[in-house]
Amino acid sequence: MHVAVLGAGVVGVTTAHFLAEAGHDVSIIDQAAGVARECSLANGAQLSYSYTEVMASPSFLLRLPGLMAGTDAAIRFRPPINVDLVRWGLAFLRQCTRGRAAANTRANLDMALRSAELLQDLRGKLPADFMYREAGKLILLATQREVDDARRASAVKAGLGVRADVISIEEATDIEPAIAAMTGPYAGAVYSPGDDVGDSREFSALLAQRLKKRHGARFIFDTPITGLIRERGAVLGVRTANGDIEADAVVVCLGAWSPALLSKVGIGLLVTPARGYSLTLPPGPAMPTASVTDFGRRFVMTRLGGNARIAGYADFVGFSTHKDADRLQRLIATAEAAAPQAADYGHADNQAWGGYRPLTPNGRPIVGPTRLDGLFVNTGHGTLGWTLAFASAEKLVDAMAPHGHSYRKDRTAIPATTAAPSSSVST
Ligand SMILES: Cc1cc2nc3c(=O)[nH]c(=O)nc-3n(C[C@H](O)[C@H](O)[C@H](O)COP(=O)(O)OP(=O)(O)OC[C@H]3O[C@@H](n4cnc5c(N)ncnc54)[C@H](O)[C@@H]3O)c2cc1C
Repeated sequence: MHVAVLGAGVVGVTTAHFLAEAGHDVSIIDQAAGVARECSLANGAQLSYSYTEVMASPSFLLRLPGLMAGTDAAIRFRPPINVDLVRWGLAFLRQCTRGRAAANTRANLDMALRSAELLQDLRGKLPADFMYREAGKLILLATQREVDDARRASAVKAGLGVRADVISIEEATDIEPAIAAMTGPYAGAVYSPGDDVGDSREFSALLAQRLKKRHGARFIFDTPITGLIRERGAVLGVRTANGDIEADAVVVCLGAWSPALLSKVGIGLLVTPARGYSLTLPPGPAMPTASVTDFGRRFVMTRLGGNARIAGYADFVGFSTHKDADRLQRLIATAEAAAPQAADYGHADNQAWGGYRPLTPNGRPIVGPTRLDGLFVNTGHGTLGWTLAFASAEKLVDAMAPHGHSYRKDRTAIPATTAAPSSSVST
């Protein structure tokens, strides 16, 4: 079966890999000139297997006043208000209960743990490294309240066999001496020795090479997708600026841009862009070896190859880039104040970047079939797309092969009960 995968970010490329390994003939279409040119380009690099906490939570509600007043440094809320955003916002608020936050975090945790297994297997198949490192992760907490919350989460994770140990700042400094050069003050830390780092852009490029060589996959770049070829209740291919491409099945992996395409066939997907930023710069004398997140100041830093990668913030500003320079300046100032010796903040070669996280209200990706025959989605990975890409791609392929059979070319409908998406695909 010929499957068109729309989008060559880390999710699209990984989806194409699992489809090709399942025996499908795959074409990957993207408007960019290569793989991973949008949100998968320069993210925080965390393979965050044990920290899968979602944004929609009771503690987020406590931040709402500051957010609305524009005084929350880590989140800007200036979106263009429209019906879609109102629907997204109401759905998000409904997810902010303690019970739903716990269930969503748990669902992401299950997916992340499966991802960890799948990536280990995949590493052996790639021709080179993608700056992968078993770094371990330390989350530095500023207040006793954060420590208490972390203890509760840690107990739940321990029950599932996942290590996220709450430790003192002295113990954290023993593990990562560079913390001594950070300004704090910190009330404690969470240590997850099983979390890794790696470069999702480099990974996507290596996997694309393998897809071409081993499976003959076609990468069709510089090709904006303008619509879907639809006949009655089925999708038969893709309309692009360079002509139509027929396919037996189409998988939408367009990240934050997924709703724009799906709305053209009457499918309303609750995914909104949440812009974040990163800096890639030379490390300083006290750059941590472990991944370190300053929870209060909302940024993460890690060594990636020979560089320091610092990332953070979530701005709800639609697809605007208007305040990018201000936000990046603020990220530099915040990181420098917290970790003055971690990086060469003023270096001329510093690379600054911004990307749109595809965020769902419940913080979980949307994976599975739609009501249109032959049309599938694998998108909405939000803050965890690099971490979850592998398990969500596997889940998508499973959804296309109910009862162990390949999705049939005659487009037999998949029973809804076999592959319900993680989040609702409202139609
Ligand atoms: C600052 C920041 C830090 C992050 N840190 C981490 C982290 O540490 N760990 C983690 O797990 N996740 C992290 N994330 C999240 C992660 O980067 C994303 O979830 C992930 O990259 C999403 O991948 P994607 O393939 O769905 O989307 P994208 O990478 O955005 O890919 C979508 C693709 O669709 C293409 N496209 C869009 N519209 C069209 C069209 N009309 N026609 C053709 N092509 C089109 C784009 O060109 C793009 O290539 C971070 C995100 C940000 C912003």
